[in-house]
Amino acid sequence: MCQTCNGTGGLAIEHSWGIQFEPCPDTNCDFEVDNSDLERLQAWLDEQKRRESA
Ligand SMILES: [Zn+2]
Repeated sequence: MCQTCNGTGGLAIEHSWGIQFEPCPDTNCDFEVDNSDLERLQAWLDEQKRRESA
């Protein structure tokens, strides 16, 4: 498991204004990104754009 992000794929950095999520900077990070959610989100965004331009 990646020791930099503890296998979470990124680091939660606390600021005074809130928490910022940074992708793991470790080039040896073995976290596997599951893109299925991202693809769904992108498809949804594309759909919204089509409706706006229609
Ligand atoms: Zn990592």
